[in-house]
Amino acid sequence: MKQVLVTGGMGFIGSHTVVSLMEAGFRPVIFDNLCNSSESVLEGIARITGVKPLFIRGDVTSAADLKALFTSHNIDAVIHFAALKAVGESSEKPLEYYRNNIGGLICLLEAMQEHGVRDVVFSSSATVYGSAAHMPVDEDTPLPAAMSPYGSTKQMGERILFDTGSFRSVCLRYFNPIGAHPSGHIGELPLGVPNNLVPYVTQAAAGLRKALTIFGDDYHTPDGTAVRDYLHVMDLAEAHVAALNRLQQVQDRPHWEVFNLGTGNPVSVKTLVETFERVNGVPVPKVMGARRQGDVPELWANPGRAKQVLGWTAKHSLEEMLRDAWNWQQKLAQ
Ligand code: NAD
Ligand code: UDP
Repeated sequence: MKQVLVTGGMGFIGSHTVVSLMEAGFRPVIFDNLCNSSESVLEGIARITGVKPLFIRGDVTSAADLKALFTSHNIDAVIHFAALKAVGESSEKPLEYYRNNIGGLICLLEAMQEHGVRDVVFSSSATVYGSAAHMPVDEDTPLPAAMSPYGSTKQMGERILFDTGSFRSVCLRYFNPIGAHPSGHIGELPLGVPNNLVPYVTQAAAGLRKALTIFGDDYHTPDGTAVRDYLHVMDLAEAHVAALNRLQQVQDRPHWEVFNLGTGNPVSVKTLVETFERVNGVPVPKVMGARRQGDVPELWANPGRAKQVLGWTAKHSLEEMLRDAWNWQQKLAQ
């Protein structure tokens, strides 16, 4: 049974991935400084899997924390989720983002090198594509200059792994992960006012926010609202298991690979909100607003490479994603 270090494993995607790893027979070691998560996540994971995973509180920008971790645990591979992720905030606090996301990655890779760990899965993002000219985007689409310091940290993170040939890395470009574990024991815990669409929708439906503002209905898209590729967070979690299996089992693979993780289905903001209302039988108070600065009109994936090479495809429907998101929101209120 392989022991896998999961940095940022208490967060939204990390916690769901920990569940998938445990179910696939891996032993995750969660390493997180709790800057955007809470220790209660461990209880949620334990309720699903029957076992409380190992958790070490620490910071990926601290060489001392990482040294203590690698010295006391035999790590076979790493999944690196730990990062700051708010696009708007990254323009207000660029140094914080570069220090955490780039400084943290370098610190982690140095610790891995020192302890002879080569395999790493890196959380990248569809944001690296910026405003691409052709949809859907595949991995060979040239990357434009990043539109935010956050986007820049993801482009640079991929590049650092490409340049450091001594590691074996898989970069996963996530499109829009939403939903929650179907049990409702873990989900997304946005602190303060949510930036992302679905947490805002669930909070507006629950009466915690006055109304959802739809950012723009004058795009050149079928209904005028922006189009994205939403995927269930449990599908995304499973992709990490597939990536680890590839790293550990396929010896003659390139030292660096990149995969889009999405469904390949374009969905507009209007369609998402209408689907949420229909499947959950609850209205979402909403108002139409101006475009949000920095948003691209449309972005969806060609996920063909992940299917062909990792054997991974997203299985859950939009209805399931939105049902699970609402179930989680309702459990939170209890
Ligand atoms: P999240 O904020 O829920 O989880 C990140 C976790 O990392 C948190 O638990 C936080 O406490 C921890 N963390 C942050 N900085 C740390 C540090 N210096 N040391 C230790 N722990 C630290 O975010 P998420 O949505 O689960 O995202 C996980 C990864 O996926 C991030 O790298 C993010 O950039 C990337 N990503 C997310 C999305 C999305 O829509 N959620 C999309 C594309 C890419
Ligand atoms: N969006 C919206 N209202 C909100 C939050 C988001 O209309 O309160 C829109 C946003 O403009 C984008 C889509 O929903 O077109 C997805 O936004 P999100 O922030 O969830 O993800 P992004 O694709 O920007 O990473």
